[in-house]
Amino acid sequence: MSWSIPLTDVVVTEEDLAAARACLESGWLTMGPRTGAFERAMAEWHGVPHAIAVSSGTAALHLACRALGLGPGDEVIVPAFTFLASAGCVRYCGATPVLADVVSPDRPNLDPADVERRITPRTRAVIAVHMWGYPADIPALRALCEAHGLALIEDAAQAIGAHVDGDALAGAAGALGCLSFFSKKQLSVGEGGMVLTHDDGLAASVRSLRSHAMTSGTWDRHTGRQESYDVVDFGFNYRMDELRAAFGLARLGRLRDEIEHRRAAVRGYRERLSGVPGVTLVWDEAAVAAGSHFAFAVLFADRDARVRARDRLAGRGIQTTRYPVLHALSEYAPFAAYGTLPAAETAADHHLALPLSARTSEADLDAVCAAVSAAA
Ligand SMILES: *Cc1c(COP(=O)(O)O)cnc(C)c1O
Repeated sequence: MSWSIPLTDVVVTEEDLAAARACLESGWLTMGPRTGAFERAMAEWHGVPHAIAVSSGTAALHLACRALGLGPGDEVIVPAFTFLASAGCVRYCGATPVLADVVSPDRPNLDPADVERRITPRTRAVIAVHMWGYPADIPALRALCEAHGLALIEDAAQAIGAHVDGDALAGAAGALGCLSFFSKKQLSVGEGGMVLTHDDGLAASVRSLRSHAMTSGTWDRHTGRQESYDVVDFGFNYRMDELRAAFGLARLGRLRDEIEHRRAAVRGYRERLSGVPGVTLVWDEAAVAAGSHFAFAVLFADRDARVRARDRLAGRGIQTTRYPVLHALSEYAPFAAYGTLPAAETAADHHLALPLSARTSEADLDAVCAAVSAAA
């Protein structure tokens, strides 16, 4: 199906192509100087000492859990309304994800009060997800984690550039922050991810586990700094390659402007849709100002209204999507009974995410909002 207005769109410029071409012509493709430059630029952009590039956001989350030493018997509190990788990373380590509810259907981020209710002697960490790029309540979650001796991991896969705690950017506010460069995300390279941290020990551990816990890399040996290596832990190949690093570095220069464009489009949506009967806007202007706008979703009155709207928009060539709660997925059903996480379930059931990208136009907004108003 080719959509007249797709859900999202990747903008590739001449500068991106030149960076990719220079990388290919250099003859060095695996993790090397471009990956290092991308990491330094991202560390500076986020105001953290350590940024470690990896092969995906999922790999970033897995390494964050491994660096904390999570294992069998440990519990990690995760919102029920998120992409499944937020819980999968816990299971990769043999630990157990404990699903928690969100604040409300129109504030669908982790509810600190529900997190507190789910803390047990086995709880080791909390994974805060900034859903659709809107900041989770980091000050409350951090206070809770400090009071109970838990690690706070930020799943900032949807939230690069969001302000989550005063000036702190998403991914730079917890013990470890995880970013994704998947093709639908704000800074996309196809597949890729990054771990951010202020902690030297955690950074060393993530860096080591990313490449089989070998004590030297291929680039070190190529440049003559190391002759051989030892292996000091049970690690992975989660390396980023140079082409993606070059592409990411080229795109980083435009990220602030692109997020600003997304924010303006979200404000355009909110103006057009506020007061439309049967449509509820999520979050508020303060969250719009702080967020980085991975996706724009609205709530319909019920599931039937949402399905009608989806079909009407599809009929006009407008692509939409919906995020399920984890325990509605077959593989995650054992982790919570349906009906026990009502705010997350209602959010998932009633929402539809509308097209949003760094090139969403006024005409797109008019067309999408006309279709939504007619359907609601
Ligand atoms: C995209 C995403 C991930 C996983 O990132 P990948 O790069 O696709 O592995 C994790 N968590 C959330 C909330 C996401 O949206």
